[in-house]
Amino acid sequence: MDKQELITAFTKIYTTQPSAEYFSPGRINLIGEHTDYNGGHVFPCAISLGIWGAAAKRSDRKLRFYSGNFTELGVIEADLDSLEYVEADSWANYAKGMIKFIQAAGHKIDSGLDIYINGNIPNGSGLSSSAALEMLIGLIVDDQFDLNIKRLDLIKLGMKTENEFIGVNSGIMDQFAVGMGQKDHALLLDTNTLDYKVAPIDLKGDVIIIMNTNKRRELADSKYNERRAECEKALSELQSKLDISSLGELDASTFDEYSYLIDDEDRFKRARHAVLENERTLRAEKLLQDGKLEEFGRLVNASHVSLEHDYEVTGKELDTLVHNAWKQPGVLGARMTGAGFGGCAIALVAKDKVADFEKEVGARYTEVIGYAPSFYEAEISDGTKVL
Ligand code: ADP
Ligand code: MG
Repeated sequence: MDKQELITAFTKIYTTQPSAEYFSPGRINLIGEHTDYNGGHVFPCAISLGIWGAAAKRSDRKLRFYSGNFTELGVIEADLDSLEYVEADSWANYAKGMIKFIQAAGHKIDSGLDIYINGNIPNGSGLSSSAALEMLIGLIVDDQFDLNIKRLDLIKLGMKTENEFIGVNSGIMDQFAVGMGQKDHALLLDTNTLDYKVAPIDLKGDVIIIMNTNKRRELADSKYNERRAECEKALSELQSKLDISSLGELDASTFDEYSYLIDDEDRFKRARHAVLENERTLRAEKLLQDGKLEEFGRLVNASHVSLEHDYEVTGKELDTLVHNAWKQPGVLGARMTGAGFGGCAIALVAKDKVADFEKEVGARYTEVIGYAPSFYEAEISDGTKVL
């Protein structure tokens, strides 16, 4: 959406003009999956799919929210002074949580707001539309009331909203990628220290294609918590002999020497993924920097193999997409991205092969799964910003 479309849409709902317009992107993770809550590295970037917003202050203390993607819910109202989770408020809970925690962090919000949003990130597909929404609302409030909240603090408030207000036990990667993204750059983030490096991405003749399984992730939340618990248990077993505070601190050979301490095959495989995936992520960033795209692509494939066989978070839909992507001409690499069990995968595909790629992978997937996937070309974009 451009500014004019946002202004027109806002005015149609609220009959006044907005005072500013905003954009917040979705994200993909190039490599480093399920490492963020294990104290390892991740390597995500913001994408050009996102949520746009427009806002204006009110003279009272009412909050009004309208999403062009949830028109059936109409305008959802809330009160600035009593922000609690209410099931019926649906998506507006993300906004309410964010505003509540901004206030709780000591920032003064003088008045209510009218907010209009509209986006094109498929919801619940692992491209983090929820983090895009949290960061969008955070920036709107920050900008409208001149709060000057540090970006990293806004990111932490987004994660707090997700964890404590919505009840999803996710790590910091999503809000970080959405909030810190830069056009044509990915972020190598150490989730243990929050140190990060902004790395230019030059894929030469290749583009990133997002492949959506179009499967809702019903299993995702319970399995996600199960994996977290398995890794915590494996860590505590290793801690009987090793002075470490996360799996991300281990290199492959130290892990190898001490893996006898893990008393269960599944836990051993989960921990092995966390350790090797962290190493792959560090190597992948260096390879990209050196322009070694083919080697980078092979690490992307290796990441999927590890998520499929060791971490066991892929499932038939993601495997069908990725295994077929590997077979196509002009493909450097492909893997699932996000939490898994459905959602999206990414592939690095030569520009002039994209049409054939989508046709072929789409047909094979539909044959096996019974319905079609969707494809989007992901441009690497800026993080949450004022337009
Ligand atoms: P993901 O973050 O992987 O896309 P989630 O289930 O975490 O999936 O978040 C999706 C939820 O975020 C939606 O159900 C909705 O409540 C909210 N949301 C995302 N995009 C929008 C939007 N454009 N308008 C309103 N709500 C949205
Ligand atoms: Mg989410």
